[in-house]
Amino acid sequence: MTAVRSGHTLPNARRAPAGRRRRGLRPEGVLGVVYAGGLAVLALWWHGTDSVVGAAGWLTDGARVTGLLAAYGCAVMLALMARVPALEGGVGTDRLARWHAAGGRYTVCLALAHVLLVIWGYALTDRKNVISETGDLVFHYPEMLKATLGTLLLFAVGITSARLARRRLRYEVWHLIHLGTYLAIFLVFFHQLANGAQFADQPVARYFWYALFVGVSLVLAWYRFTVPARRNLRHRMRVSEVRFESPGVVSVYVTGRRLDDLAARPGQFLRWRFLAPGMWWAANPYSLSAPARDGLLRITVKAAGDHSRGLVRLRPGTRVWAEGPYGAFTEARRTRRRVLLLAGGVGITPLRALFETLRGDVTLIYLARRAEDLALRGELEAIAARDGRRVLCFVDDPAEYSLPLTADSLRTVVPDVAERDVYLCGPPGMTRAAHRALREAGVPARHVHQESFEF
Ligand SMILES: Cc1cc2nc3c(=O)[nH]c(=O)nc-3n(C[C@H](O)[C@H](O)[C@H](O)COP(=O)(O)OP(=O)(O)OC[C@H]3O[C@@H](n4cnc5c(N)ncnc54)[C@H](O)[C@@H]3O)c2cc1C
Repeated sequence: MTAVRSGHTLPNARRAPAGRRRRGLRPEGVLGVVYAGGLAVLALWWHGTDSVVGAAGWLTDGARVTGLLAAYGCAVMLALMARVPALEGGVGTDRLARWHAAGGRYTVCLALAHVLLVIWGYALTDRKNVISETGDLVFHYPEMLKATLGTLLLFAVGITSARLARRRLRYEVWHLIHLGTYLAIFLVFFHQLANGAQFADQPVARYFWYALFVGVSLVLAWYRFTVPARRNLRHRMRVSEVRFESPGVVSVYVTGRRLDDLAARPGQFLRWRFLAPGMWWAANPYSLSAPARDGLLRITVKAAGDHSRGLVRLRPGTRVWAEGPYGAFTEARRTRRRVLLLAGGVGITPLRALFETLRGDVTLIYLARRAEDLALRGELEAIAARDGRRVLCFVDDPAEYSLPLTADSLRTVVPDVAERDVYLCGPPGMTRAAHRALREAGVPARHVHQESFEF
């Protein structure tokens, strides 16, 4: 196990300011509010429920509570993805996405339970078979046709988000179907007020429901549309240069007006839309691969598919529409004086920016397949030489320069690894192995901070 030595001439990496600390909402606090809201919904159901009689009564009441919880779940799922800075900065985009995915599964299951229970319960009450009861419900109850379309759309979102289907679908197709959730929730909303027993004679419950959904819609409209539009009109970003870094990897430099006002911190990412032929319709997330400075932002991207492959063809002057900065993979997560940055492949990008700006004792381990794949290596070594940090590069090929991700090998290259905060970014297989090795090397999970490039 030997670190690869560098023979590159290095670009000038000037000293950049340290990442500023900014407070966001704490994950436990956010979960607490979500659960408290769930309890409030249960209280609403309880309050509006008279005595329950017979199987039909139980089924119908089960339908009511699952329907209320499913609707509440939809509101929470939207709020989690509303790109609220306090959530993005405090909880982190990847964790929000994980909550959204897990919560989405529960929400779709609750919606399915609601549909089945309501049909069954009403069928028993009306002494009809479920088929004719379904027809009755859909075509004769107020707002139910719209609600049926909305629910089918919600199920389509759920099915296409299942892991198996997601793997087979292009990201853009999946994303388009996923955006249908907005329409689905709008279509479903009114049947709750029209038919829900809890809302029939409880004006307070109606106000609560309106406040919840109108509030979430306003937050979405503000943070997903108004704020990005204002920012882009203000900053007027353009591509200034595209540079080749290593096979299949390019850096894109972006200029703009008053970019300091973005307050982008090392470790964060933006969603980038390049207004070039064939690219303007997609906004993809890429991390800043250098601290923002002198009116310049930089991303470094590995060709993975259409969007990332197309960046090499960008011309200087191309208008850029960027949303962000997002993410909590920043210095604010740090709890210890000593830090280990652990990068796999293009996962180097956010760690490159942190490597330059984190103060104190910082070591970077950078893993790649081959020496020529070690993008940005020259400037990493320049920073290391200038600021007295350590950068250790390892490659799979040739094997003598590799670093197996085990506790023993980590302890060999970084003996005090257990006393460090670890920032981790790389492909899924690598990060899984790294988590295992770090745990065995004595690094508590709360000291391992990960950025995931997979949503
Ligand atoms: C927070 C974050 C930061 C990232 N930073 C970098 C970086 O600095 N450098 C880098 O090379 N890569 C980065 N990525 C990965 C990069 O976004 C994807 O490789 C790229 O979007 C792939 O798009 P494509 O059209 O080239 O390939 P495709 O073949 O279309 O997509 C490959 C995979 O990338 C993902 N993906 C595609 N489009 C999007 C999108 N709009 N939003 C989220 N995921 C998408 C999907 O999981 C898809 O399966 C980052 C990803 C995330 C989530």
